[in-house]
Amino acid sequence: MDEKRSARNGDLVLPGDYLGVIEEYFPGEGVKEENGELYAIRAGKVRIDPDKMEISVEPVTDTPPLPQPGDIVIAKILEVKPQAAIVQLIKIEGRNDREIATSKLAGIHISQVREGYVEGMSSEFKIGDIIRARVIANEKSPIQLSTKGHDLGVIYALCSRCRAPLVRRGDKLVCPRCGHVETRKLSSLYRKLKV
Ligand SMILES: [Zn+2]
Repeated sequence: MDEKRSARNGDLVLPGDYLGVIEEYFPGEGVKEENGELYAIRAGKVRIDPDKMEISVEPVTDTPPLPQPGDIVIAKILEVKPQAAIVQLIKIEGRNDREIATSKLAGIHISQVREGYVEGMSSEFKIGDIIRARVIANEKSPIQLSTKGHDLGVIYALCSRCRAPLVRRGDKLVCPRCGHVETRKLSSLYRKLKV
């Protein structure tokens, strides 16, 4: 017969892994009992509660939670199309950076850029811009964002000619190096947030 080792607090386990016997622990969340033996029913981390003598398996959060509608996110513009911009999420404001999958993509439809008419996406966003946006829908991929609101929009941008960081002058952005003037859907927090 196999020598079976009881699981210890913090062990990473897979579904079906042996955890111990019913004489040692009560089965908690993520644990099933079979003929007096305890097995994991999900992948995760073993948690042993010594007071309740209970063993459970906590799901491991290596799949970060989906940003929820209403969350404010920081993202980078990857592509600007005629009707939408594609962005990569960097972080959810007010949460640990590690809690968001940096590979997550999101979109901003032209109707969600600002209040009022948008002539073209290319005068609102450029590739590489860092934006602050609100999540409006997450049921379908990509997640949908909006930059409507005075504190939402571009918070950091580089000159499209010479790549120097642009400086805000009124409603426009000006390149301190080459003098190029550009437009964006600007956030009132332009260059006021650490990105
Ligand atoms: Zn420039």
